[in-house]
Amino acid sequence: MRTGSFFKLGERELRVPVIGQGTWNLPLDGSAFDEARRSLKLGIDLGMVHIDTAEMYGNGGSENVIGETIKGLPRESLFIVSKVMPSNASYNGTIKACENSLHRLGTDYLDCYLLHWRGSYPLPDTMRALEDLVKQGKIGTLGVSNFDVEDLEEAAACLTREKIACNQVLYNLEERGIERALMSYCKQHSISLVGYTPFGKKRLPDADTESGAVLASIAKAHDATVPQIVLAFLVREEGLFAIPKAAREAHVKENAAAGDIVLSESEIKMIDTQFPAPKTRRPLAWS
Ligand code: NAP
Repeated sequence: MRTGSFFKLGERELRVPVIGQGTWNLPLDGSAFDEARRSLKLGIDLGMVHIDTAEMYGNGGSENVIGETIKGLPRESLFIVSKVMPSNASYNGTIKACENSLHRLGTDYLDCYLLHWRGSYPLPDTMRALEDLVKQGKIGTLGVSNFDVEDLEEAAACLTREKIACNQVLYNLEERGIERALMSYCKQHSISLVGYTPFGKKRLPDADTESGAVLASIAKAHDATVPQIVLAFLVREEGLFAIPKAAREAHVKENAAAGDIVLSESEIKMIDTQFPAPKTRRPLAWS
């Protein structure tokens, strides 16, 4: 699996596999739960060690499942990311929320900890808590989610020792609004863009539509599937990561293998034509 530079500050650089695993809406009981757990473990074995979660997912249930699944695995082989809910993001609330996440995950540190989206607590308080969590060794790096350029500028200005490692945002073929301003800002400031909901809200287009046929032809050329081509497109540049959620083993296998697909310039252009980014800047879309 290809890796990308997730965090860089002076000599300190963290490289992370470009395709990770999302865990929102993971089934939390029944037979689907057993497969979801097996899938998560299979994903780790196949190199998707970047695991994305949040205290919000299943009210901590997703973190519990991850904690059970990673028991006994070498901690340093994993890259675990969680998020504090804006309603908990006061200074003390952020510290406490992180400690609760660590407990549920059965680990003593997170590789990255994010503010899930901007809420009503003052940003300086949240960012100071995140910096203090780094100092205490409870998190390796800090980041944000659903932040547009102006929010990132404000968040960065709150920091005194650390830098923002990543911004987790909605990014898929239907929603490429981040390409207008956010992407270049993040590149310029070495902030990783971690794209969520990579398969979009709608079904991927069928092969009998023009855009579906284009994806299908590229997939055929790579002996791959359409979802794999979508993922390869979303991580086509340095600094871009994707975190598909898959509760089924067949999906996990596909997603992991997508991390090795490199699209040609002409294939990228073909996809670009079928699924164009907006021409002008829009407010950041998120869910
Ligand atoms: P997603 O990953 O785009 O889609 C998940 C759906 O795609 C599931 O139904 C899954 O099926 C299916 N799928 C996975 N791999 C597939 C494949 N190879 N072929 C066909 N279908 C496949 O959507 P998402 O869960 O919204 O986003 C991913 C992750 O991003 C979340 O789980 C969460 O960790 C994160 N996220 C963050 C935010 C935020 O505000 N920061 C918001 C939303 C999501 P099965 O599960 O049945 O395998």
